[in-house]
Formats: sequence, C-alpha cells, structure tokens
Amino acid sequence: MNHDSKSMDPLEELMLRAYPNPTRNGCPDAQVLGSMAAKRVSREDPVWEHLWKCSPCFVEFVKLRDARAAIKRRNQSMIWGALAAILLIAVTLGINRMISSRHSDDPGSKVANRYEAAVFNFEGTAEGEVVRGAEPPPVQSPALQKQRLPARVINLTVYLARGSDDGPYELQFLDTKNNVLASATSKALIDKGLTSFTAIVDLSKFLPGEYSVRSRMLPNGAWHTSTAIVE
Ligand SMILES: [Zn+2]
Repeated sequence: MNHDSKSMDPLEELMLRAYPNPTRNGCPDAQVLGSMAAKRVSREDPVWEHLWKCSPCFVEFVKLRDARAAIKRRNQSMIWGALAAILLIAVTLGINRMISSRHSDDPGSKVANRYEAAVFNFEGTAEGEVVRGAEPPPVQSPALQKQRLPARVINLTVYLARGSDDGPYELQFLDTKNNVLASATSKALIDKGLTSFTAIVDLSKFLPGEYSVRSRMLPNGAWHTSTAIVE
C-alpha cells in the first residue's frame, strides 16, 4: 500500500469522479489551485465551493497538495538526518576530547604521540654481548640482527634483556667508528616480566645503514648491544 492511497479518504476518492466538468466551467487557474494547496487561500474564499463541486479541479488540487506534503516530509527527514549527523559529530568530538584529556594527564604522551612508534629489542641478548665499559661487543646474536628503524624522530619502545632491573637507563646509537650519534635516557618499568622503557630518539639525520644500539642502566650498568638498520 503506497502513501497516496493511504492518505486518500473515501470521500476524496468519490469527489475525484463525482463531479465531472468537461467544459471546465468556472474553474480557477492553476496558480489559484496551487495557493489553495499551499493553504494560502482563506477557508471563507468562494473558490473552495467550486473545488467541492468540480472533480477536475479537485484532482489537480489533490495532486498539488500531496506533492507539497511529500516535499515537506522529505525536508523533515533531511532536517532529522542533519540533526542526527550533528549529534554524531558532537558525540564523536566529545569522546575524542575525553580521550585526549585523559591522555593529557600523562605529560609525556602528548609529545610522544606526535612521533612514529617503533620498537627495539634487547630481549634475549646473549651473555657474550654484555660487556663492561665503553666498547661495544664484536659478537651479536643472529636473532637480534637487522632490527629496522625509520630515519625519523621516533617514539622508541626498548625491550631490555630478560631479568633487567627497572630504573634509569641510557640508550645510545653509534656509527661504525663508535661515535655516539643519538642518545636518550629514560626510566624502565617491569610489566609482565618484561623490562622496557620508551624514549624519543631523533634518527632523522641518520644515513641509511647499520648502527650499533646499546643500552645500560645508569649510572654504570653493563652495556647491552645490538644492531639496527636505519632506513
Ligand atoms: Zn473546476
């Protein structure tokens, strides 16, 4: 059942055919019928009398009236659609603001979020790689080779060798001549048995290639060294 037949009452159905007026005697023009459909013609106006007695005019009037009603329905649903969209945007913004205000409680996260996240792993560093002093070790475990990092400022999460203590750590990136090209300090925490810290490291000036990465607990813990491919 479509909307038109639903809105049509039996009296209207009858009137569509009851008063044929083949000569269109006394009919108002289309503009007047349009005004009537738009409810801009007073109920006292004698033109209404004609409408109730002229099926051709009544047919046109019903068409115009129903077309207006359809436009009104469409506009209303557009308004509701727009309101729903605005509401959705407002809710989304509110949620985002809630999330970011929660994050801003942590002073470091706002800065850290601006940089690409990366991970570097010292976990499983072999005993032979642990050396005291400034010299990086010559031997590295194959599993730890070729960890790739982007040549950008990165928010680096460093996983330390299993069993590493929590506390302050130092991280260094060295070239093949053992020049320290980048360094950072951070506080390591233990979570689910893994010791890790995060630090902002600027690798943006690094040429693509291999670099030594080493970390030690401050002030003078043993260095753990591995290799990173910066690309
Ligand atoms: Zn008429």
